[in-house]
Amino acid sequence: MAEVTSEPQLQELVPGVHAWIQPDGTWWINNAGAVHSGGEVVLIDTCATARRTRLFLDALDAATGGAPIRLAVNTHLHGDHVYGNALLPDETVIVAHEHTRQGILQDFILANTPPVWSPTPEWGVDAVRAPTVSFRDEITLHAGGKPVVVRHPGYSAHTVGDAVAWLPEDGVLFTGDLVFHRVTPMIAMGSLDGALRSLDWLAAFEPAVVVPGHGPVVPGAAFAEVLDAHRRYYEFVGHTAETGRDKGWTPLEAARQADLGEFADLPDAERLVLNLHRAYADADGVEINIAAALGDAIAYNGGPLACAV
Ligand SMILES: [Zn+2]
Repeated sequence: MAEVTSEPQLQELVPGVHAWIQPDGTWWINNAGAVHSGGEVVLIDTCATARRTRLFLDALDAATGGAPIRLAVNTHLHGDHVYGNALLPDETVIVAHEHTRQGILQDFILANTPPVWSPTPEWGVDAVRAPTVSFRDEITLHAGGKPVVVRHPGYSAHTVGDAVAWLPEDGVLFTGDLVFHRVTPMIAMGSLDGALRSLDWLAAFEPAVVVPGHGPVVPGAAFAEVLDAHRRYYEFVGHTAETGRDKGWTPLEAARQADLGEFADLPDAERLVLNLHRAYADADGVEINIAAALGDAIAYNGGPLACAV
């Protein structure tokens, strides 16, 4: 495994299978990947900004001898995984779950970024580029002769249209943001119940290596432990929401009363407020108010959310 560095790094997990790991995995700093086989590339996600996406694509170009990117998949709709789509060659076909395609088409952050993060990210991208192929349950892409199985869990979890990219021949699993490793998970645009349910679904792949959506690569032997940490966090969010609702507290008040315990050291702890807004909305059977949730996260944090993208 590659040495620890603060610079983004292309890690070749098995021959031809690359993870683009970007420390420190906090707001807007995601992981991506690529599968190179038979002289062509299938890409898994891009990055938030033009600068970061260019670094990724240049490193990949060097590692693959300039092999063409025929196909790309977006694991979900969030800008840190898709804004860089705009830098892909025109001939690259981009694939995503139908809800992810829809969500990307409705993106409102890139063109009009609210003052939530500090400093405000410099995207360097003029417009979102949406996938042109969508699927509902599963689709298999092929890099040369190597299959890349792209699969939706069947319900909302991190978002409404999550997908993993699974390499059955190599046992490598790209989870997108169904897994945040050593970073606070976020389910504001998905479902707390679904996120909990997705953990067993992820474990069933029995991967040899896992590339989370944020944070360092996870060896297969450590995956159960990482999923357990997610389970404990989601249960903590659930209990905090239940207590808060019982006492008549707002999500912000419930967050302020809660003891983060073992999760206090995870970066982006203010996501608790966003996650509580989701838990409350689901319990009340109403739509989440994302703008209000972000405002409360800023209040909890005592200012705009730190961002190093
Ligand atoms: Zn995400």
